[in-house]
Amino acid sequence: MSLKHISKYTQEDLSWARSLPKVELHAHINGSVSLDDLRSLALSKNLPFPATLALPGDPGFDIKDVFTLFSSTIYGVVRDQDALRFVVGKVLDAFQADGCVYLELRTTPKKNVAMDMDEYVMVVVGAIEEWLLGRAGSQEGLMHVRLLLSVDRRHSVEQANQIVDLAVKYAPLHTCIVGVDVCGDPTVGGIRHLVPALQKVKPAALKLVVHFAEVAECPEQDELETILSLNPDRLGHCTFVPSHLMDEIIKREITMEICLSSNVVGGTVSAYERHHLIELWKERGYRNLVLCTDDRGIFLNELSHEYLIAMDILGLTKREMEEWAARCVEQYRK
Ligand SMILES: [Zn+2]
Repeated sequence: MSLKHISKYTQEDLSWARSLPKVELHAHINGSVSLDDLRSLALSKNLPFPATLALPGDPGFDIKDVFTLFSSTIYGVVRDQDALRFVVGKVLDAFQADGCVYLELRTTPKKNVAMDMDEYVMVVVGAIEEWLLGRAGSQEGLMHVRLLLSVDRRHSVEQANQIVDLAVKYAPLHTCIVGVDVCGDPTVGGIRHLVPALQKVKPAALKLVVHFAEVAECPEQDELETILSLNPDRLGHCTFVPSHLMDEIIKREITMEICLSSNVVGGTVSAYERHHLIELWKERGYRNLVLCTDDRGIFLNELSHEYLIAMDILGLTKREMEEWAARCVEQYRK
């Protein structure tokens, strides 16, 4: 797991990577909160929290276990306004402490007994705005925070429409809302049924970001072509992209969100040294790549760790890594 990998770096390396101004584009709110914070939240609300969990590093832990953690544990604790506010604040603190200067969070609006989807979005937006307000004028450079609303593959087109409509409605009122993401367990179903909703994203001047080729088998034939036909701004993971489609992505200069530890710990890539980042960087010479954490609470990976691992597997110098990080900051923190 990533912590073992990280143990070989010196304290000086870790401090350098943390101090580097960084961009994070692929971070799910509920997967980014630490399990310790979730446990204390559960305790404070008298909610059950499992004594033992299938965790990264456990024998056989794989991507299915990640989705089980979300559905059976995290969503069971983060289910009212207070809990959601608490989680957003903790996640923002963690990224700021790790040297992140531009953060795009993402979350799937949920309807439960405590709130509907609209209220869910407003609680998240309110928590972000409150956090930013609380730090305005502080000495350290204030992190820019943006938000994507996520559509889950398992959603019906009605639910997807609701989420896209919320993004369209609130983006002009709350500058943090910048787009729509498509996420969810890629082993359970395709996305073709969501296309009518997703087609509304780009005409509304919002970004479209999609989890792409995360597992070897696509749930639907032609799924990847369908996604590319929507003209996405960014693609997450891109682990199992056929060569001709990778050519197309590179030709269009679409940004790829590279989640090293998420892929290795989740088991879709067998080792850091075999990660597709290496082929993209070295063989294809592609540079429109941004290192991301995906679910730092689950994978125990700080963004600064991802930078050290990338530097290691690509054989980059600190200077080269600083230049890569600076390019990302220049592109996103405008
Ligand atoms: Zn993700």
